[in-house]
Amino acid sequence: MARSWHLRLAEKVLFDFDVEQLKTLLTTEKFDNELRRQALALRRKFYGNRIFVRGLIEFTNHCKNNCYYCGLRRDNRNLQRYRLTNEEILTCCREGYGLGFRTFVLQGGEDPYFSDEVLVPLVAAIRKEFPDVAITLSVGERSRASYQALYDAGADRYLLRHETADAKHYRMLHPADQRLANRIRCLNDLKEIGYTVGSGFMVGSPGQTTAMLVEDLRFLQKLQPGMIGIGPFLSHRDTPFGNEKNGNLQLTLRLIAILRIMFPCALIPATTALATLAENGRELGMEYGANVLMPNLTPECQRSKYSLYDNKVTTGIEAAGQLAALKQRMSAAGWEIVVDRGDPVSY
Ligand code: SAH
Ligand code: SF4
Repeated sequence: MARSWHLRLAEKVLFDFDVEQLKTLLTTEKFDNELRRQALALRRKFYGNRIFVRGLIEFTNHCKNNCYYCGLRRDNRNLQRYRLTNEEILTCCREGYGLGFRTFVLQGGEDPYFSDEVLVPLVAAIRKEFPDVAITLSVGERSRASYQALYDAGADRYLLRHETADAKHYRMLHPADQRLANRIRCLNDLKEIGYTVGSGFMVGSPGQTTAMLVEDLRFLQKLQPGMIGIGPFLSHRDTPFGNEKNGNLQLTLRLIAILRIMFPCALIPATTALATLAENGRELGMEYGANVLMPNLTPECQRSKYSLYDNKVTTGIEAAGQLAALKQRMSAAGWEIVVDRGDPVSY
């Protein structure tokens, strides 16, 4: 199998694995080194040693949804809820811009307070003050008209993980009123409107099988997103999945490498969940083909309340204010953090 990868790369053919190959790769460690080498070669070919950074603003932890895996779910009564005002969000952007961030990611629970009447003027204000930044939104499922209004106001990118492409598995992870069909509708709308779309899934979510992971990869092949975010599932004590096992580090890294090979030009972050699972998770992610980091710009007093899973790292180089330290650490590993919007290159 290893030989055919070399051949394909030499021919510069966009790599595809068949289902059986994927199953083999996902269930053995035997090919990990080869996967890592190929992924790294492609990552270097298209992005050199550059790492793009995004300033993450977790602007609300209110959520009307009840995903079984997430600590922000509406039934979690043990969480102190917060939402930033538009002015506080703009202050985060100013701080981020000063630090050198040229992409802001506004992420939150599905908070009905942030209707179009509130969110559209916010996006427009960010766009007006920072014409040269990319504005990424990650606020869940909305109507097509809402996505269009946000795009027209200046949003460029949207992160919405599909979580699982298997409808039965989707029902194991979410209550019945949250449907895979609607998530896919959202992703298609976002693409048609013109957003750079990001999707992805958790690795090791309860009930996930190898066949489901293969389906996830196939789903992404159809969607062809510009950004792909994966990270290990990590349990949260105040959720129905509080006693479930965390996702596996090596499988997550292996999947990052497979994604890089299947999607050579994609923007793939080494996620906070990966850095939570392993102290050197960011470096490991880069070694397996990731090219994006998302340090946290959320005001420190609220940061620990954005509790998607237990023990989420929020301090040290995870904090955007520590960008200089992050740069140093990444440069020690041979990478260069750049000031750039960091748009995907085309194949
Ligand atoms: N409400 C938005 C954005 C916030 S959640 C949305 O759901 O899209 C952002 C991501 O965090 C989710 O897509 C999910 O994949 C991830 N996440 C939530 N709970 C998690 C957990 N317990 N472990 C790992 N990742 C989790
Ligand atoms: Fe809400 Fe997103 Fe968490 Fe689901 S994953 S409960 S939509 S914040």
